[in-house]
Amino acid sequence: MRERNIVHLDLDTFFVSVERLRDSSLVGKPVVIGGLSDRGVVASCSYEARQYGVHSAMPMKLARNLCDDAIIIRGDSEMYTKYSRLVTDIIAGEAPLYEKASIDEHYIDISGMDRFFGCMQWTHELRQKIIRHTGLPISYGLSVNKTVSKIATGEAKPNGELEVVRSRVIPFLSPLSIRKIPMIGDKTYHLLRSMGIQTVRTLQEMPVEMMEKVLGKNGNEVWRRANGIDAAPVRPYSERKSISTERTFEKDSINVVHMQELLVSMVERLAYDLRKKQKLTACITVKIRYSNFDTHTLQKHIPYTSFDHVLIAAAKELFDRLYKRRILIRLIGVKLSHLVGGVQQLDLFEDTPEMIRLYLALDKLRNRYGKKSIRRAVGISNREKMKEEEDESRPDRTLPEEIEQRASWQAGGSTFKRLWKINRPDYLTGNAS
Ligand SMILES: [Mg+2]
Repeated sequence: MRERNIVHLDLDTFFVSVERLRDSSLVGKPVVIGGLSDRGVVASCSYEARQYGVHSAMPMKLARNLCDDAIIIRGDSEMYTKYSRLVTDIIAGEAPLYEKASIDEHYIDISGMDRFFGCMQWTHELRQKIIRHTGLPISYGLSVNKTVSKIATGEAKPNGELEVVRSRVIPFLSPLSIRKIPMIGDKTYHLLRSMGIQTVRTLQEMPVEMMEKVLGKNGNEVWRRANGIDAAPVRPYSERKSISTERTFEKDSINVVHMQELLVSMVERLAYDLRKKQKLTACITVKIRYSNFDTHTLQKHIPYTSFDHVLIAAAKELFDRLYKRRILIRLIGVKLSHLVGGVQQLDLFEDTPEMIRLYLALDKLRNRYGKKSIRRAVGISNREKMKEEEDESRPDRTLPEEIEQRASWQAGGSTFKRLWKINRPDYLTGNAS
């Protein structure tokens, strides 16, 4: 196989760095970004705060206890989205093939470039250009595949560069903690640690069969990564790549209420798919087609999100701006584009932890009982409501206690009832989806 040269670029403490551009007095101080209340969660923190043991995803209350002097900032997802795009634009202007892996991470495939120009020099100049144009610190790793490059970036931080050539891959990985392997999460880490495994070297020396025995089907992949083997390609990023859905009415319609309800349920479905794929979107498009086949679309750039309530508000606004003619409509469509990898991190400071838990609880139920098991009450059409009312008179209508209890425990009963309507799970109605 042809030798590859893969760059992994990662902005250092991205949210904090953006805040420091706005307010230079934050430089050198422990800065924590996240929800301001005690129930909030840390979304990002500076290296100075990390020295006190603060880390992301930690409850804000604990972060405050660990670091008295911490400057706590609510964060501004719109501004972070703007800087994320700025960095992507610079990379797009220079790189032959790049992937936007998350809001602050990119992979670039520069295989073959070394014949013309040193890979390291090219990447160094790209990094300098990003720093010059944005003022943001950024680090990179350059190696033979995505896994090793990403680990190299981690070792280069903060504000550094590191190349790991083919012959150095094994010795580079060996002494590192198994934690550094991107695939090893909390659970796997603790399992391996309980077996006395601490460094990557031990994994490298273990027979792959043994890893499979310990970690099941992931064992093989973890073993390969520990040995610096990763064939995953850099997937070209395109803002146009999207997920979408559209619905044609059986009979052309002017029923605005019905159309809005339909729009809500379409957005909900897409947002769920987005979260399932662990992606965020920064652009929503709504399309309507009139009965005479005239088609109109409007799009809106939004801060990266995968939340229904943010997307629904944007979709409704676009629909209201689009549907001015009050004539028969034949079709409605919704599209989410500018997709990047990531779980909802940007909204941590905009929404209460209850809101995030609510989404987690709802998605869990969807995963288990099917996409249609839970929907916003407004997204259920009148016809379905009528059908459901009929159902309600049946004696077996009662929801399984487990669902109700888990949902209200995880989400807070009143919020849940106000926002969502729980349909009877498919296994009770017999319509498996
Ligand atoms: Mg980063």
